Amino acid sequence: MYSQTHFLFPLFIGLLLYRVGIFSWKLALFAGIVGIFIDIDHYIEHIIHSKKNKFSLRATWNNSIKLHKFNQRSFIHYWDGAVILSFLFLIVSLWYPFIALALAIGYFSNLLLDVPNFAKKTILKLKIGELYFRESWVEVLFCVLLIIGCIIVLLL
Ligand SMILES: [Zn+2]
Repeated sequence: MYSQTHFLFPLFIGLLLYRVGIFSWKLALFAGIVGIFIDIDHYIEHIIHSKKNKFSLRATWNNSIKLHKFNQRSFIHYWDGAVILSFLFLIVSLWYPFIALALAIGYFSNLLLDVPNFAKKTILKLKIGELYFRESWVEVLFCVLLIIGCIIVLLL
C-alpha cells in the first residue's frame, strides 16, 4: 500500500491509545511515522540493485508502483526480519515500553497492510510528470475511513 495508508493506520491505532490514556499524541504521531519509515528499505534495495538512477527517489517510486524490475522489499518485510525486529522491540521495551509499543505498531501495521494485493482492483492509473500512480478503490476507501476515524477519536 501507499505511504499515506502506512501512516494513517498506525496513527489511528496510536490515537485510540492516546484516547484511553496510554499514549501521548506525540507517540501516536511517532507510530504513524514509523509506519512510513519501514519502507525505507525500498530505497536501500533500489540503491543496491538498480543499474541506473541509483539514488533517484523517482526511479525508486516508479519501480515500486509500476515497473517492478526487482523486489524492493528487504528482509525486514519478511519473517526473518520480523523475528529480529521483534527481539529489538522487546529489548527497547525493557527501558521504554511505550516507545517500543509505538515502534511495534508502526512496523507490524506496515507488514499487515502489505499482505493484501489490490493491484487488480485499480480504479485510478495516473502519470503526473515522470511519476506513476496506481490506486485501488479499496485503499482509497480505507484511507477515507481512517481519516474519519482519526477525526472522531480526536473529537471524542
Ligand atoms: Zn511495506
